[in-house]
Amino acid sequence: MGTPLQLAPGVGATVGLSDRVLGIEPSGIRRIFELMATMRDPINLSIGQPHYDPPPELVEAACRAIRDGKNRYTVTQGLPELNQLVLDQVAARHGSRPETCLLTAGVSGGLVLAFQCLLNPGDEILLPDPGFMMYRHLATLCGAVVRSYDTYPRASGKRFAIDLAEVERQITPRTKIVFVNSPSNPTGAVATRAEIEGLCALANRAGAYVVSDEIYDFFCYADDYASPVRYADRCIQLGGFSKTYGIPGWRMGYATGPLAVLDAMKTLQQFSFVCAPAPFQYALLEAMPHIDLSPRFVEYQHKRDLIAARLHPAYGLAAPEGSFYAFPELPRDAKGERVDGKRFLDAALAKNLLIVPGKSFSAQDTHFRLSFAADDATLHRGLAVLAELAEAFRA
Ligand code: PMP
Repeated sequence: MGTPLQLAPGVGATVGLSDRVLGIEPSGIRRIFELMATMRDPINLSIGQPHYDPPPELVEAACRAIRDGKNRYTVTQGLPELNQLVLDQVAARHGSRPETCLLTAGVSGGLVLAFQCLLNPGDEILLPDPGFMMYRHLATLCGAVVRSYDTYPRASGKRFAIDLAEVERQITPRTKIVFVNSPSNPTGAVATRAEIEGLCALANRAGAYVVSDEIYDFFCYADDYASPVRYADRCIQLGGFSKTYGIPGWRMGYATGPLAVLDAMKTLQQFSFVCAPAPFQYALLEAMPHIDLSPRFVEYQHKRDLIAARLHPAYGLAAPEGSFYAFPELPRDAKGERVDGKRFLDAALAKNLLIVPGKSFSAQDTHFRLSFAADDATLHRGLAVLAELAEAFRA
């Protein structure tokens, strides 16, 4: 075994780490990964990636690209034909064509570039709560001030929603970015068209950018999917291939938006990531137009239906509308008190079940994240353990 990649608390400052990096706490999910390594046959409902392998034709195209010598850098923005293909797909889906496209090292790469190019120290960014933890840390690295808009349901069993009055309250003259993530990690909510249109109108009025993380756009079970691309005056859309194609390790994503901002992101990419991985750009360009992922979509829709129908009612879950996550409530004990996240996580671990506490995504400790990116047998086992836990806490 090598040395674990984690310093003891307080050691960072003594070895001279920057203040900027000392301000970042390690991900709450890290503890779960560490625990998982010690467990035999865990029921793992904590996973943030699809459980399927990439389509064989995509794998073949990637192997061919490597064998055919497509191993050098591409131009910074990525292959022009792939840029155009992405823009064509965005225009076909949303009825609006962004000015330009940059291929990035995953959506993570796009987030780093977008935040670095837009946020000055002291600028404010408005993030959803709960939300994917990377946003907050990347914004903090830029010296930005993080504010949040609460999307928690008003009552048990209701959906997570964007409350426009709440967004309006949180916007100030310093707001530079209003951030949207639909479908959401961790809640599984898909913002309605009215929510997206209203949020964009507020951002437009404030002269703010809307940065939209659409990495789960393939996994949308709602009838309608609205993107800020259509409604925001200044939109940076971040999209990805990791989840859709089952290739999170390939590090492929894209950003679209106005030329002036994308040009700055391209310059920064030149001096950081250089380009998105070349052979995978060629592979996606070649194979993507011929791949039919609809069986995967149907499969995940069934998984969503299974969770929504079978999760014990004590968890107060509204059916997730997208992504492959549900964000149920922590159950209540015999006295009617909500069980805290740590106690629930420990009880789940004692039964070999891995979930992620909601506190990893939120200021609030009232919910937990359950991923349904797992085979059906694992989902059934997980549902059974969750039912046992709900009953045990209530007894
Ligand atoms: N955004 C969200 C909401 C995510 O859940 C993830 C991955 N867990 C990412 C961005 C990053 O994805 P990638 O860098 O693989 O494209």
